[in-house]
Amino acid sequence: MIVLKSGKYLTPNGGFEDGDIVLHGSEIASVSKNFDARSDDEVIDIRDCLVIPGLIDIHTHGAIGYDVSINKPSEIVELSKFYAKNGVTSFMPTTMTDTDVNIHQSLKNIKAASESGELGASIVGVHTEGPYISPARRGCHQANLIRTPKPEDADKIKEILGTTLKWRITVAPELPGMMEFIKYVIKKGGYVSLGHSDADAQTAYKAVAAGANSFTHLFNAMKGIHHREPGIAGAALLCDSFAEIICDGIHVNPDIVKLIYKAKGAGQIILITDSMPATGMKDCSLIFGGINVIVKDGTARTEDGTLAGSTLLLKNAVENISKFTGMPFEDAVRTASINPAKAIGIDHVTGSIAPGKCADFVIMDSGHNILGTYCRGKKVYSVL
Ligand SMILES: [Zn+2]
Repeated sequence: MIVLKSGKYLTPNGGFEDGDIVLHGSEIASVSKNFDARSDDEVIDIRDCLVIPGLIDIHTHGAIGYDVSINKPSEIVELSKFYAKNGVTSFMPTTMTDTDVNIHQSLKNIKAASESGELGASIVGVHTEGPYISPARRGCHQANLIRTPKPEDADKIKEILGTTLKWRITVAPELPGMMEFIKYVIKKGGYVSLGHSDADAQTAYKAVAAGANSFTHLFNAMKGIHHREPGIAGAALLCDSFAEIICDGIHVNPDIVKLIYKAKGAGQIILITDSMPATGMKDCSLIFGGINVIVKDGTARTEDGTLAGSTLLLKNAVENISKFTGMPFEDAVRTASINPAKAIGIDHVTGSIAPGKCADFVIMDSGHNILGTYCRGKKVYSVL
C-alpha cells in the first residue's frame, strides 16, 4: 500500500488536520494519525505539505490546443494529463452547439478516451452546452445550429454515453417544450443546468421546480437583474441550487463574485473554467465552436468582441475567489471539488478525502504550488 505520511489534509468537514493517508488500489483505505506502516508499504513523507481533494471541472471545452468537440480520443487523453498537472482529477468535457452528427461523434470520442486506461484526470461524464439555447444569449455558439429539443435527442445521447458516464446539459428554460424536456432528461438520469438564456425569473423558478439543479456561468450569457424583473440571474441568486462562476476577474467583476458569495454561500457555488483550446498557450487566433476567435492577453473573443470561453485554470479560479471575496481557502477548494461532485451525482465516489472514496487528491506546498496529483490512486503528476 502507499502511505502519504505526515501531511495536513483537508477533511470533509472543511478544516486542515494532520493525518496519514493510506491508499489501496484506486481508493483511500484510511486516514488516521500515526499510521503504522509495514515494511512492504511505500511510504512518502509529505511533511509541511497540504493535501486537498482533486479539483473537478464540469465545464471545460479544452486546453493546450485540444478541443474536446473535435479531437481524437488519444488527444483527449493528452488533455487529461494537462488537467492533472494543474490539480484537476476529474472533468466533464463540454461540447458546443453543433449538428447532431457532430455532437454524437464528439461523445463517442470522449467515451473512447474515458475507457483508454491512460488518462490523467478521469473523465466522469459529458456536459453538452447547447444546442437548446436562446439565440438572444448564444454567446459564441453558432446561431444557425440552435434548435428546440425532442425526447429522442436525450435517448440518443444516453445510448452513446451508456451507464458509466454522467450526462449534464445546459439549456435555456424558455424554449418551447423545455419543461417537459428537463423532466425527461432527469428521468433518464441526466443533470440539467440553466444558461445561455433570456428567461425571466418565473420561468427559471419553474425549471428549478422541474429538476434543474444549477445555473451555467452565472451572469454570463443570461438575462441580468433588473429591479422590476429579477431575470434568470436573479433567480440563480435566490434558488436553492448551484451556480457556476468563471472566476477569472474578466467574465464577472470581482465585486459581483462577492455578491454571489453573499447570496449563495460557499455551499452552492461551483467554480468552472469554461476553458477553450488556447488555455495554457500563447495568444493566438483559432476556430472554436466553428467561429473565429482571437486570444489577446489571455482573453478569448470572437471578431465582434463577444467573450468566447476562458483561458482560466481551475487552481487559479480557487485562488481568485479567495482573493475577491475573502472566502477561506478551505471553502474555496470546496467550490471546485465536493460542490461540482454533488451537482453531477458523484459525491459518494469523489470530491473529498475520506476512506472508501477514490484516491483523487493534490499535494501542495504551503504556498499552494502543486507538487503532486493522484487520480484514482495513480500518481499522474509529481515533482516530489
Ligand atoms: Zn462553455
